[in-house]
Amino acid sequence: MTAHSIKAAFYTGEKSFRVEEITAAVPGAGEVQIDVAFCGVCGTDMHVFHGDMDARVTTHRVIGHEMSGTISALGEGASGFAVGQRVVVRPLAHCGACPACEAGHSHICHNLKFLGLDTNGAFQEKWSVPAYTVHALPEGIDLKLAALIEPLAVACHDVRRARLVSGETALVIGGGPIGMLIAMVAKHVGAEVAVAEINENRLSIAKKLGLGALNPKDGPVEVAIKTQTRGKGADVVFEVSGSQAGVETMTAAAATRGRIVMVAINNKKPPVDLFQFFWRELEMLGARVYEPEDYEQAIGLLARGAIDVGALITDIRALDDIEQAFAGLHGNSIAMKTLIRVGANL
Ligand SMILES: [Zn+2]
Ligand SMILES: [Zn+2]
Repeated sequence: MTAHSIKAAFYTGEKSFRVEEITAAVPGAGEVQIDVAFCGVCGTDMHVFHGDMDARVTTHRVIGHEMSGTISALGEGASGFAVGQRVVVRPLAHCGACPACEAGHSHICHNLKFLGLDTNGAFQEKWSVPAYTVHALPEGIDLKLAALIEPLAVACHDVRRARLVSGETALVIGGGPIGMLIAMVAKHVGAEVAVAEINENRLSIAKKLGLGALNPKDGPVEVAIKTQTRGKGADVVFEVSGSQAGVETMTAAAATRGRIVMVAINNKKPPVDLFQFFWRELEMLGARVYEPEDYEQAIGLLARGAIDVGALITDIRALDDIEQAFAGLHGNSIAMKTLIRVGANL
């Protein structure tokens, strides 16, 4: 391989990737080029792999956004960074001109581009991104763990939206990586946290992390939560499962004046028990991606060792094995977070 040639894994249509040798893009004005170290496989990436998002991502796209790496070059005007610095990317490009951007909510910009879906992403050895998406990491941070800062920032955003405070009870419905990270951040805030999940492997991880673990197969979750709270219910419910059962549980388990945070992506418009919103003055909040301060919080939590993100890493695979890594995740009940080792020299 020459100095300018890099490996990039292109999604090339349903259930296929092709690793190609390409010429690394030179960072443009205002861009930072990063030697990608690790990049996690996200649920969204799995949807891409299964061909569900071809209209948006096309069938020749480098995906991947849960990454960590080291700056390799700076484009013109990309100030405030240095080559060799460890970084992560907040993979959102906003327009700066729409009503959401003008209101200061650029993370939910009307014209939002998600880097690694709408543009090429991090399953390539060198990735050039706008400097404003880059967050510097403390020196010496473990780049494997840093690849989980993106999903951890999702969790920080969700918990912040919930206005969760110490001493409250939180129920997290769905114990995948995002649900587990929300539960860990909620526990760190000082809440009493339970995770509802049907997969026993995931429940055992929750228990190891000191979280309450409820299997809906053992009886209604709302009954268990009410028993634990002397009839009150959960102050905050995070719906992360995206299932109808989860949507039913969220209204049934919430306390009077409880807050429900909708984290899951529901394309199918599930029926919601609106009577409970009226009767118990419930509140529902949407929570989508993250803002810069959520990234800074996630970086701080990781740097201080406050959140054990390493407990969620179940596999690390080489970039050359990306297709097999994705294929092996389908219906895999043990996998939690798989990382792809993108950098050749790690
Ligand atoms: Zn993701
Ligand atoms: Zn905008």
